[in-house]
Amino acid sequence: MGVFFSHIFSRLFEKKEMRLLMVGLDAAGKTTILYKLKLGEVVSSIPTIGFNVETVEYKNISFTVWDVGGQSVIRGLWRHYYQNTKGLIFVVDSSDHDRIEMAAEELNMMMAEDEMRDVVLLVLANKQDLPKAMAVHELTERLGLHALRGRQWFVQPTCAVQGSGLYEGLDWLSDQLSKQQ
Ligand code: GDP
Ligand code: MG
Repeated sequence: MGVFFSHIFSRLFEKKEMRLLMVGLDAAGKTTILYKLKLGEVVSSIPTIGFNVETVEYKNISFTVWDVGGQSVIRGLWRHYYQNTKGLIFVVDSSDHDRIEMAAEELNMMMAEDEMRDVVLLVLANKQDLPKAMAVHELTERLGLHALRGRQWFVQPTCAVQGSGLYEGLDWLSDQLSKQQ
């Protein structure tokens, strides 16, 4: 698994320093994905109370991960991480019908940030193995993705515990970002 991701990331990130953010509600599967990618040592830190950040550095890429939702007080602190961000990976628990609206709000709020205006969005529709998982078309609608005019976005079904779909999603992201360089 690690070898495939190394290949994608080498292709993409030889040239420039780049930041990728991976966010989503808690329990969406972000940490599982981060470890599945096997890019390097995952470092957890808490820059401020209640704001837990995981980072992995791989060559020129920094991969920064945190939970969104219900923390409006610290939202302003996220901005520090928006600088130089080219790709946003939004992970959603496809089986979490109760919190899909909250996920949509968080996603749209982040996409509306000025620093994020050129960001490429990869949505990972995670936990597709669960029986009540929403399909891509339903998630697309409920996340309001069609309203993101003039933006590059893509929804990739995944199962992080098995690692399925991650390669395809990152391959798409890598293609989009290499077009921009
Ligand atoms: P995070 O809060 O977004 O970092 O989520 P975690 O990576 O900690 O995952 C939360 C829980 O969901 C853990 O128990 C994971 O094993 C589980 N999980 C993650 N991805 C999947 C998946 O694709 N399918 C299933 N069934 N469970 C998953
Ligand atoms: Mg986590």
